[in-house]
Amino acid sequence: MVTFFNIKLLFYKILVIYDIIITMGVYILEVKYKDDRMDKLKEIPIENIKGISKIMIEHLHNNNINTVYELFNYFPYRYENYEVININRASDNEKVTVVGQVVTEPVFSYYRRTSRLVFSILVNDLVIKVIAFNRDFLRNKISKLMYVTVTGKYEKNKGQITAQKLSLKAMDDDRIEPVYSLKDVNKVYFQNILKKAYEQYGSLINEDLPLAIMEKYRLISSRDLYNFVHFPINNEQVRQVSRRVKYEELLKFQLKIMYLKKREHNYFNKKPKEFDEGLVNGFVNNLPFTLTNDQNTVVREILNDLKSDYQMNRLVQGDVGSGKTVVAIISLYANYLSGYQGCLMAPTEILSEQHFKYLQSIFKKYGLTVDLLTSSVTGKARNQILENLNSGKIDILVGTHALISEGVYFHKLGLIIVDEQHRFGVNQRKVLREKGDKLDALFLSATPIPRTLALTAFGDMDVSSIKEMPKGRKEIKTYLIRSQLEKRLVNFIDNIIKENQQVYIITPLIEESEKIDLENAYHVYEKYQEYFKDKYRVGLLHGKMNNNEKEEVMKSFLNNEIQILVSTTVVEVGVNVVNATLMIIIDAHRFGLAQLHQLRGRVGRSDLQSYCILVSDYENDKAKERLEILTKTNNGFEIAEEDLRLRGPGDFFGSRQSGLPEFKMADLVNDYAILEVARDDAKMIIETNELFSNPEYFALKYYIEQELIDSNELFD
Ligand code: ADP
Ligand code: MG
Repeated sequence: MVTFFNIKLLFYKILVIYDIIITMGVYILEVKYKDDRMDKLKEIPIENIKGISKIMIEHLHNNNINTVYELFNYFPYRYENYEVININRASDNEKVTVVGQVVTEPVFSYYRRTSRLVFSILVNDLVIKVIAFNRDFLRNKISKLMYVTVTGKYEKNKGQITAQKLSLKAMDDDRIEPVYSLKDVNKVYFQNILKKAYEQYGSLINEDLPLAIMEKYRLISSRDLYNFVHFPINNEQVRQVSRRVKYEELLKFQLKIMYLKKREHNYFNKKPKEFDEGLVNGFVNNLPFTLTNDQNTVVREILNDLKSDYQMNRLVQGDVGSGKTVVAIISLYANYLSGYQGCLMAPTEILSEQHFKYLQSIFKKYGLTVDLLTSSVTGKARNQILENLNSGKIDILVGTHALISEGVYFHKLGLIIVDEQHRFGVNQRKVLREKGDKLDALFLSATPIPRTLALTAFGDMDVSSIKEMPKGRKEIKTYLIRSQLEKRLVNFIDNIIKENQQVYIITPLIEESEKIDLENAYHVYEKYQEYFKDKYRVGLLHGKMNNNEKEEVMKSFLNNEIQILVSTTVVEVGVNVVNATLMIIIDAHRFGLAQLHQLRGRVGRSDLQSYCILVSDYENDKAKERLEILTKTNNGFEIAEEDLRLRGPGDFFGSRQSGLPEFKMADLVNDYAILEVARDDAKMIIETNELFSNPEYFALKYYIEQELIDSNELFD
């Protein structure tokens, strides 16, 4: 007994010591990796660089370069390329670099203040005349038979090059020179300082990327990186720099997001949902229509998420009318079969009601209990719903923000779906998430954005896209007209309404002034009331109305009590007024393309032919080109890509969401392929816990933690 006790004690002692050793080991490793040499560079002022002059220090400070780290990271914004080319292949007026032998004595002349040096060189088998202005100092240095390298514009038919750069030797290698955007700093001096600093402190540059990754993609080391970026000897080195920097930037960016999300919710501990797939398939087959391929794919993705041990966090983006609701419905059904409650939150009462009725009609024959909770449900009715929800009698609850109000407790919530998700704040989505334990979340968005940006803007969300429209949908015919033709629209409108169809007229939003918006809307409203005085009813919808007033107007429109609805952009998203077939947008150039597309999506919701008229006195060809995109395609994804191309990612989301990262080299649009690779790697690093357990990754982890200290609020 005693011996056993002793052995046990010994065993514990060993365990404790072992534990200490392990902890220390990790600690030492952490310290080693945390003792980031690159960080030291952040603390070394440029004053410490040997031989740097006072003036240079001052100038560098003026360029916001204060530390050696900042010096190294002051990247050139482009490179001047002096690749020696075969002159026979050069085209007229091309900028070329050639090596040639001088075949005539130089002739020197002055014209006013300008000096001119002319001589000929033999390049391959061509004699080329070289003209160099203001190179007095070369006058006596150029002589027959010597070799020179000339860079400049080549005028082919004159057989002459006007030299921008002239060097008195034959360059055998391609040359490439960095160009910096520096204020008042001579590039030669700048590079001298860089060289000195690199010699003195280059050894302190550490490696942020783990070896495994560097080997996998054959990336250059960061020490090479700083060498090549400032002192490249050929294009290949520049290319290698860009490969490495882009990858590293995108990897770090993706890691940062995922790391944070991982800290927020623990992903991989959900109880997988179990349901009979045969039942789900039967449900799908019993729908009144066949799913499109895209709908099918998205449904599969969602079912896989439900069955997995991670919490689904998926965004489904698809054009208005692409059929996102039914995808949500199928997901809710699978979730129900697994024994969980589900909920669907929509931004407005009308939309919630529409969803509620639709879900009820579909789920009735399957015995599911669906209910509706909005802020107009009060008193006894509300209490009853809350009670049924809490006891598990309600299977699916549809509603507005009321769903996230206090007192709403689910019995066993397994799936939340947020429709028109951009209409809700991050916080509201979070509160809904907290109504259940380790639940799955699905977000629906009718604002298609290019995949590249979706990956970025939505961080770690998985993104599914429905690009294909259900069969039989007619394209909305879209026309761009000048405002002088607006009068003729009256006839068109009349014809539409005679067919018992309805019309939207959207008046522009001028952000600076709601007052002007309102005046605009009133003006248009009165104008059309005047036109159609006793014939049709015209309604008005604007941002100054409260929600109830807005919903009243929307309801009248839905019931065709109003035939023409004049509205600012507040016109409700998602609401299905199947009978509306004409959308007129006034001053269309004031809207973003994506927004115009959204607005247009209010019509074309049936098999009737729908129209969209963009009224605009656009001021230039560019504005016209932009608007014409809409006349050419009905595909929201294409429009988004075009919009992105024309406006760049910064503007794409508007100023409000300019939280997009700024990279030195990576470009979210053009480096999409690298982004995807980096994203997969980041995911793996996080999933396999490398970041936390493998010392090779500690530098990355440290970097991310440092970054997060500054940018916590960005990710909420
Ligand atoms: P959104 O993606 O804008 O939310 P909805 O889900 O409201 O679109 O769908 C628009 C309309 O298309 C609805 O009336 C819906 O019943 C119908 N629909 C959805 N999927 C299909 C399909 N595969 N085939 C035919 N009609 C469909
Ligand atoms: Mg919808």
